[in-house]
Amino acid sequence: MARIDESRSECVFDDFKGPLTAEQAVIEANRCLYCHGAPCVTACPTAIDIPEFIRKISTGNVKGSAKTILEANIHGMSCARVCPVEVLCVGACVHNLQGVPPIQIGKLQRYATDVAYANGWRFFEAGAPTGKHVALVGAGPASLACAHELRRFGHACTIYDKRPVVGGLNTTGVAPYKMRADRSLDEVEWILGIGGIEVRTGVDVGTQPTWAELEAGHDAVFLGFGLGVDTPMGIVGEELAGIWGAVEFIERMKLGKVSVSAVRNAVVVGGGNTALDATRELVGLGARTVTLLYRGTEATMSGYAHEWQAGRVDGARALWQAQPVQFVGGDRVEAVRCLRVDDEKRPVPGTEFDVDADLVLVAIGQAKLGALVQALPGLAVERGRIVVDGNGACGRPKFFAGGDCANGGKEVVNASAEGRRAAIAIHQMLSGADHG
Ligand SMILES: Cc1cc2nc3c(=O)[nH]c(=O)nc-3n(C[C@H](O)[C@H](O)[C@H](O)COP(=O)(O)OP(=O)(O)OC[C@H]3O[C@@H](n4cnc5c(N)ncnc54)[C@H](O)[C@@H]3O)c2cc1C
Ligand code: SF4
Repeated sequence: MARIDESRSECVFDDFKGPLTAEQAVIEANRCLYCHGAPCVTACPTAIDIPEFIRKISTGNVKGSAKTILEANIHGMSCARVCPVEVLCVGACVHNLQGVPPIQIGKLQRYATDVAYANGWRFFEAGAPTGKHVALVGAGPASLACAHELRRFGHACTIYDKRPVVGGLNTTGVAPYKMRADRSLDEVEWILGIGGIEVRTGVDVGTQPTWAELEAGHDAVFLGFGLGVDTPMGIVGEELAGIWGAVEFIERMKLGKVSVSAVRNAVVVGGGNTALDATRELVGLGARTVTLLYRGTEATMSGYAHEWQAGRVDGARALWQAQPVQFVGGDRVEAVRCLRVDDEKRPVPGTEFDVDADLVLVAIGQAKLGALVQALPGLAVERGRIVVDGNGACGRPKFFAGGDCANGGKEVVNASAEGRRAAIAIHQMLSGADHG
């Protein structure tokens, strides 16, 4: 698999959470109460048996621990780094109720899976060939998890992605202080190590091949193509130099080079997790001042409070209840013109003010790609998402979907869980059993 430039901009970031040593891992594992009906497991979309993998670390059985994790979540290594554990497993740990620091589940998971990767341990084998062939559209976590599970059943898989790199947003989007792109590519390589998964990059499904060609050539199709490009603000001046979609900017930083050393006033528009990541990334890259502009309040933003807290500690500031209405400048952006908004997020006339800006990242969401499949009768698309049942089936025979294109944009762990769940349903369909 093609590697990426080692001098890319994301490499300036340190590992934010850092690994545990073997000794620290055993000490932390021994704090676990091994709860019956553990709430940490319920909080995990892949339902990893957390007390079981922690117990195995405490007894020195790291190999068994890694197997327990990866059996439930093939993305266990990256999820240990990128999952918002504060609102999932760690947030649910019973220790929180007693005012005791919760178990560092993510760090323990990282310890076990890193040891497995470092030792080249592999736990899964492909099943006996069935003669069936599944196409998977998109090479992000949803399709990778789906393909890996399908290989365990013995079905041949081909993954198509329009980008040159594999791993989806896990490679091109997640903040580098959580995980750099090369670590995501290590995981992709490990997953593909099961064998029998062909990956074809640079292929824009829907154009070439067409949906009809794809459908005709395969026994089943899994749709894991995620979301689309950054949503524009749609206001005057958006074409000025210095204004970027946040996801596009982050991808450039992760795979290539961006320079913000000459930036005096960087502004990020939005209140979701991509906006918060972009804010921290600009600070880390060296922009002199970084301002988050959000039309809601700190309490109503959809981004995680712990991420904003970290951004604030890094040195970012925020202007709440500010609605950009125009980008001002000559060739390049010089300011963002805003109106104050009230508690109902309505702009208040006559409250105009300018925020100096020579770099603006717009992080107000990604376009939904549901339109991509509207050519396929039987597929229901609601608010840009493909409507799926509990197994990922989406109304057209042979077609299944999962990950961001079906859930509207969640986390890696959700995409991985939905991909695996769809694989089980696809297998049941291909082997003649009912998947309902
Ligand atoms: C900036 C950012 C930061 C994030 N940070 C985190 C985080 O810290 N933790 C976390 O858990 N989640 C994070 N997420 C969310 C997470 O990355 C996604 O939920 C997850 O990657 C979704 O997986 P997926 O497989 O559904 O789609 P994606 O990862 O988006 O992969 C879809 C793939 O499909 C390809 N594709 C699209 N259309 C076509 C087509 N027509 N033909 C062929 N290929 C196509 C794309 O090129 C892409 O590679 C972040 C998201 C963003 C945008
Ligand atoms: S809730 Fe906390 S203490 Fe209980 S099993 Fe999970 S990690 Fe261990």
